Amino acid sequence: MSKNRQSHRHADLPQLTERLRRKSRKVTVPRQAILRILREQAHPLSNKEIFATLPKGDCDLATVYRSMHLLESMGMVKRFDLGDGVARYELLEEGDDGHHHHLICVRCSGVVEIDECSMRELEERIAAANSFAAVTHKLEFFGICPGCQR
Ligand SMILES: [Zn+2]
Ligand SMILES: [Zn+2]
Ligand SMILES: [Zn+2]
Repeated sequence: MSKNRQSHRHADLPQLTERLRRKSRKVTVPRQAILRILREQAHPLSNKEIFATLPKGDCDLATVYRSMHLLESMGMVKRFDLGDGVARYELLEEGDDGHHHHLICVRCSGVVEIDECSMRELEERIAAANSFAAVTHKLEFFGICPGCQR
């Protein structure tokens, strides 16, 4: 039922830097490098993981934190919390709310992307029952992956 998000086509780098430029943000070397890393990843990455992947000497960890904060405020990345309190980021396609879920292995921390969402009906029921509008949700799944069951 769940599609592999790896099959999703991400915008290419010139398109991404163009989005930065349109919002009159400087396309600094670290920002460009961060966008390239996120494009190549199908799963959410933490600031430290992004930093570890960056070419050495490009920027320090504080720059990664600041850049991710900026990219999030611009709606270019979406932040996920996979249950350990560490912020992780995925690239957000233009016009996409990025809504999806993850299945996380509690032993090896492997992440499966779950695109399917069956919560809309529940959302509507909860909204109606409590007279709420614009109800949304965050939800991640946890378990033991096939490799860790052996
Ligand atoms: Zn596992
Ligand atoms: Zn994801
Ligand atoms: Zn959902």
